[in-house]
This record gives sequence, C-alpha cells and structure tokens, in this order.
Amino acid sequence: MTWGIIGHEWAVEQLRVSIRSGADAHAYLFSGPPGLGKRLLALRMAQALNCQQGAGDPCLACRACRRIERGNHPDVRVASMESQAAAAKAEEAARQKELKITTIREWQRDITLRPYEAQRRVLILHDAERLSEEAANAMLKTLEEPPPYATLILVADSNELLPTIVSRCRVLRLRPLPRRQVVAALVSRGADPATAALLAAWSGGRIGQALRLLETPQAIARRDEHLAALLAIHEQGRGEGMRWAEQRAREYRGGEQESVFAWLELWQSWWRDALLVAAGSPEWVVNIDRQADLERIVQRHSLPRIYAFVTQLGQAAQQLRENANPNLVLENLALHAPGG
Ligand SMILES: [Zn+2]
Repeated sequence: MTWGIIGHEWAVEQLRVSIRSGADAHAYLFSGPPGLGKRLLALRMAQALNCQQGAGDPCLACRACRRIERGNHPDVRVASMESQAAAAKAEEAARQKELKITTIREWQRDITLRPYEAQRRVLILHDAERLSEEAANAMLKTLEEPPPYATLILVADSNELLPTIVSRCRVLRLRPLPRRQVVAALVSRGADPATAALLAAWSGGRIGQALRLLETPQAIARRDEHLAALLAIHEQGRGEGMRWAEQRAREYRGGEQESVFAWLELWQSWWRDALLVAAGSPEWVVNIDRQADLERIVQRHSLPRIYAFVTQLGQAAQQLRENANPNLVLENLALHAPGG
C-alpha cells in the first residue's frame, strides 16, 4: 500500500474502496485530535482521486501525485488558518481566531472552476473547527451540491462542528493509535526502544506528534524544560506562579495561543498522571520518565485535590477558547496550583 499512513487502516480502506467503486463522496470530514495524521490522509486522498495510475491508491510517482505532494497542483487547493493569516497583515493575523467568510468565499469561487488537468478538483480546508458561524453557513450550499467534478475535504481538530456541516459530509473520525503501534513505528524509523516508549506515551497515541518529536530533539528538551518550570510553580509557590502566568498571558496576547494551550495540556497531563498513579493504573501514565516524582506527589496531595486541579486546568483552556481575559485565567490557575 502506498498511502504511507501509520494506523487508521479502516479509514484508508474505506477511502480506497469508495474510489475504486466510484462511490466516493463529494464532501468529507476528517476529524479528531491534532497530530493523528489527518492532514496526510487528506493529501493522500487528493492524490488517490487524481493519480494517473487511477487504481484507487496514490502511486506517489506520477506527475499528479508528485505535484500534489509538493503543493503545486493547480487542481488541488488548500486553505487553513495559516493560509488565511499569510494573506493578512501581521498584526491582524495574530488576532485571527476563526476562518472567515472571505476565506470561504474565495474557496467557493475556486471550486466553480473546472479542473485544468486533473480528474477532480479537490479543496482541502484545514482547521474546519474554527469556521465562524457566518462562514459555516455560507458553506452549506456548496457542501450540499458541489460541482460534479469537485471533492471537498474538511479537516478538523475537534468533533465539535455545527451539525449542519457534519450532516452534509461523510465523516471519518480518527482516533489515537495504541501505544505499541506508535512504538513500533518509531523504532522502525530508527528510534531506540526507550525513546520510542517515551514519545509514544507523551504523544498519547498521536502518531504525527510522536514523529515530530522524534525529528526535533529540541522539542524533547523543551518539553522537559517546560515540565520543570511547571513543577517549580508547585515547589516554589505563588511568586513563581504569577511570573509564569504573566509570561504566558503575554505570549497569548502576542499571538502564540497554541503554545499556551500546549503548556496547559502538559500541565494537565502531569496531574492526570498523578490521578492514575493514585488510582493504581500506572500503565496509562504519560510522563513515564518521571515515575518517582509522581509517586512523591501522590503522597502529598489528596485525590479530590488533584482531581479538582485537573478539572480546573481543563476549564482554563475552555475559558481561553471562549475569549476570557488570559491574565485572569492564568493567574487564577497559578493561585490554585497545589503547593509542593
Ligand atoms: Zn500517482
């Protein structure tokens, strides 16, 4: 098989069978948490639809497959928060939180054009979970009745899309892979077994994220630094916590929202691990290189206290997504962080 997708076998099988039998849909939605390989799946689908070998699989060798891979095929268009930001002024780009109606309109104009050279015109829309309501509504008609030569592929990092969008698409919900499958994939790419086990645990079965970590040793070091900074908040108390909150709030306002969400996710993974250790299920622990620290922390805090903070971390992320004031949200977290 030339799809080169790790895991998600059922999804690949479903797509290739539908192409072969001519039963492919006009609109797809690939959804699931970030780092699962949804982007690659969308790219492979675009290739499979237009491969000059035409066998339901992308050959990855023909001119069409190669041009789609490089992102310069005239009949395969990709839009995303990134492409939207690239078209805006830097200052405005940093503030953008949604896919706007203008982006969708442009996309719709594009789809009315017949394919120049391919069999199908494919439009891939990443970050579909960030469609503004207005933009989502503007899309409904196109999703319902796209031109016969077009395929729309929406890619979303969450399953929370407007039901009116979801009901018009063939939905493939991707899930994290079993840890052992991620470990095997990393080892086959040259990782030593200990690193592979660590990255598989850290990534929570999100293969794309595990591979990115493997390719960027700096990212592994940075994660370690970040965890140490978070543990310092617990050890050193409020002053440290408030400094941390102020720095993150500044990043958030400066357009580095994703980095702040990554901090919160890391912090939550730490305390969720503590819950797992306390509950006697250490096999699900994410921070497997820090078992001793986790054991120690569990001795010091009650289960309800740990549980409350895990919940609070999740609420903080939610509040930020709902445009709450980042300083207030993050300072509130720092104030409630369990002490060392
Ligand atoms: Zn091909």
